[in-house]
Amino acid sequence: MIGCLGQEKIDGFRKLLGNARKVALAGHVHPDGDAIGCVTALALYLQRELGKEVVCMFPDALPESLNFAKNPSLKYLWGKTEDADLVILMDCNAFSRTDVLGDSLAASAAPKVLIDHHLNPDVSSFSLVFSTPDISSASELTFWILKALGWDLRDREIGEALLTGMTTDTNNFANSVFPTTFAMASELIASGVDRDAILQKIYFSYRENRVRLMGYMQNEGLTILPEGASYMILTKEIQERFDLREGESEGLVNVPLSIKEVRLSLLLKEYEDHYRVSLRSKKGTSAQQCAVKYFNGGGHENAAGGRLYPAKDLGGKSLEEYVKQALLESL
Ligand code: 5GP
Ligand code: MN
Repeated sequence: MIGCLGQEKIDGFRKLLGNARKVALAGHVHPDGDAIGCVTALALYLQRELGKEVVCMFPDALPESLNFAKNPSLKYLWGKTEDADLVILMDCNAFSRTDVLGDSLAASAAPKVLIDHHLNPDVSSFSLVFSTPDISSASELTFWILKALGWDLRDREIGEALLTGMTTDTNNFANSVFPTTFAMASELIASGVDRDAILQKIYFSYRENRVRLMGYMQNEGLTILPEGASYMILTKEIQERFDLREGESEGLVNVPLSIKEVRLSLLLKEYEDHYRVSLRSKKGTSAQQCAVKYFNGGGHENAAGGRLYPAKDLGGKSLEEYVKQALLESL
């Protein structure tokens, strides 16, 4: 059993589940593969193996490229909540990360459980917390929790959801991989989960425009600072030119890190009144601190994100001046 579990916590979780007829599971805003994967897997287990009524809730829709990760036998709500006897927050460290759902979830009288792998979990808001940054993903953490609860790995759809979440969060075994991560993958594949089919759905099903956008941004849209950082600004104009949909710039922020000298890579994506910020770093440089200090965000040590509101955040600087300074001060 992995470090943050422990028999007492598993017993506590079993008891909370035993007392609940209906369970609500919630994931973070702009859901990614890990969020939809772990919520789907745990919901399937609770519905099928424990006979619970379950509802899966997200503040906003999945990108089209992740639609395959929903399970048709589950009820999903997008942008609204429903009452339940137990609330489980997954793949984020605080209710505020569920945006429009946050206040209603936090105000629920039901006991609350956190299952997460980000830094600084908001432990005071939960009756029970499973949290460690020393794991690949919330999906991996869910795998070990399910095993400790007695799951026999026979339900292939639960396994697929977990392997999907772990694969996207590790960027297909490139980052945040621990010995337990390989153990999980090994057990799931041995149980019959088809990894090749999952990889097809995640990495080999994009539209042509995504590949063209990636090329354009690497050519025209990339600025490299000789001190060891890079940034890209995906303006609305570029998004429209490439007919970009939500999720289609996934992975772009990782590319500049393949340059030897680049230790910190930033991608800004323009929305109505703000930019969404993605940060990636090599070991020894903290993407997370940069996100917290300059971009109203957080995340993991080497993969973090946030938001930048030009109207209030720039302090008189131009966007590029602000970004350059934030990057240089974070190296
Ligand atoms: P991405 O760049 O893939 O959107 O996000 C990378 C990581 O940063 C994810 O683990 C995500 O949870 C975290 N992250 C992204 N945006 C935010 C944000 O606005 N606030 C916080 N606290 N974390 C974020
Ligand atoms: Mn995650």
